[in-house]
Amino acid sequence: MAFPIKTCVVCSEEFELRPDKPGFANRCPACSEPESAGSSEKSRLDALARKAESELNEARRSAIRDMLYRKES
Ligand SMILES: [Zn+2]
Repeated sequence: MAFPIKTCVVCSEEFELRPDKPGFANRCPACSEPESAGSSEKSRLDALARKAESELNEARRSAIRDMLYRKES
């Protein structure tokens, strides 16, 4: 059975669009794989960035709290 031939939007290679092909329908299997690996790496970095940002916010909140406390006393 023949599958529809698609052109990859990333590398312009033609590939068979198989129903079980992972990733995007407009990307060849080779270009779909690094994307999924890259996105997991990105989400790991996002988690680190969020953690750093929440620590920064916490520091900012406690600085504001100190400032308000000093103003009141
Ligand atoms: Zn490709």
